[in-house]
Amino acid sequence: MIKHSITNMRISGLLLSLSTLVIFSTISSSSSTLIPFRKNISTLDFGRIIESNPLAILNPESPKEIAQLIQSIFSNETLMINMTVAQRGAAHSTYGQSQTSTSNGIIVNMTQLPSFIHIEESFADVAGGVLWVDLLAESLKKGRSPRSWTDYLYLSVGGTLSVAGISGQTFKHGPQISNVIELDVITGRGEQFTCSEKMNADLFYGVLGGLGQFGIITRARIILHSAPKMVKWVKVKYESFDQFIKDQEFLISQGVVDYLEGEIILQHKNLSKVSPRGLNVSYSIEFVIHYDEEIVAQKKLDEILDELKKGGTMAPLPKIEDASYFDFLNRVRKEEMELRKEGLWEVAHPWLNVFVPRAHIKRFKDLLVETIADTYTAGPLIIYPILRHKYSSSSFLFSTSFSYLIKKKQAK
Ligand SMILES: Cc1cc2nc3c(=O)[nH]c(=O)nc-3n(C[C@H](O)[C@H](O)[C@H](O)COP(=O)(O)OP(=O)(O)OC[C@H]3O[C@@H](n4cnc5c(N)ncnc54)[C@H](O)[C@@H]3O)c2cc1C
Repeated sequence: MIKHSITNMRISGLLLSLSTLVIFSTISSSSSTLIPFRKNISTLDFGRIIESNPLAILNPESPKEIAQLIQSIFSNETLMINMTVAQRGAAHSTYGQSQTSTSNGIIVNMTQLPSFIHIEESFADVAGGVLWVDLLAESLKKGRSPRSWTDYLYLSVGGTLSVAGISGQTFKHGPQISNVIELDVITGRGEQFTCSEKMNADLFYGVLGGLGQFGIITRARIILHSAPKMVKWVKVKYESFDQFIKDQEFLISQGVVDYLEGEIILQHKNLSKVSPRGLNVSYSIEFVIHYDEEIVAQKKLDEILDELKKGGTMAPLPKIEDASYFDFLNRVRKEEMELRKEGLWEVAHPWLNVFVPRAHIKRFKDLLVETIADTYTAGPLIIYPILRHKYSSSSFLFSTSFSYLIKKKQAK
């Protein structure tokens, strides 16, 4: 937020020490949680593309400390012009979004904010720095769960609510930002507000999906629903892009599945469909059915597969797995652990997310496959439909009712 509302200029050594002194004395009067930056503290993020060294890091012991820091900057014209502040969640951005860009910046380490997770029947109140995986584990103890997720759960609540939080449940429940009832926010003036659809609505909709530019989320009230115990987790392969798209749209419009994503699989040579660039192209739909009673889920799955078989191009043997709801939602953690073992997690992650209107999805796919580098080696290419009416018009602008989300992740 503040990183853009306060002009980003270089400051002289004298000014730097003056500003440092003012800021440090303001915060250290309550505690000593503002620590000067030292080289051994990592300033990279998950992307490992941008690295920057802030002046200091605030490990807040309360929202009040964050407010004090911002007030002390805002009330001093020199500091306001020269300092930048960036709130940092789990730092899983890929291009420096949670870093300050220069050495006159302060990082607010949200994961150090005292953590709390209060579970009620229909909602959870959580601190902004809480990781989604912890919220899931805690809510499951009471048989409840948030409805909308990201593919990976070691991200902070404040961090994903700043970008939207989109995954395979979005077609049903909307993105994570459509599943928030209320927020506590600290603004760029250091004021603390509670906001919701009815209270300070401009701030509420500004902060949700606001890329961290409109305020710091210190508490979020997230909608919960009844958590299933298990899921049927199905992967179906396709050779035909048209059928792949048709079946994805069929599944989400019928509302018969609880999660759906798709993938374009690119492999080097030796399968039937070879792209002009020498890559084999196939497709995979991944969907999930929640259940408590296996027999009910199996019947539903049989009906779905019968319907899909009518298209004629689905591969004959879908991969079907029964998994606990927790293990399914936490699936990327397993991949992370495997990649870590091979030293392939802590590498650079160039990453592109785009919404493509339905009318252009085939042209976009052709362009992508034709132009992708021959050296393409790793990283999933995820593609799935979303429904515009599940996205609040206060946060999103779409020109078509049906769009596709494409996520291209590449480990470098
Ligand atoms: C492996 C992996 C899988 C992912 N899968 C998905 C996915 O399926 N769907 C999806 O939507 N995204 C996905 N993401 C992207 C992820 O949601 C964003 O990068 C998110 O911002 C990361 O959260 P974070 O806690 O790491 O935030 P950070 O990287 O720390 O911060 C991100 C932005 O939010 C701001 N911010 C952080 N905390 C707060 C706060 N408390 N209040 C206000 N602003 C704040 C920061 O200043 C910054 O601008 C994935 C990322 C990774 C690494």
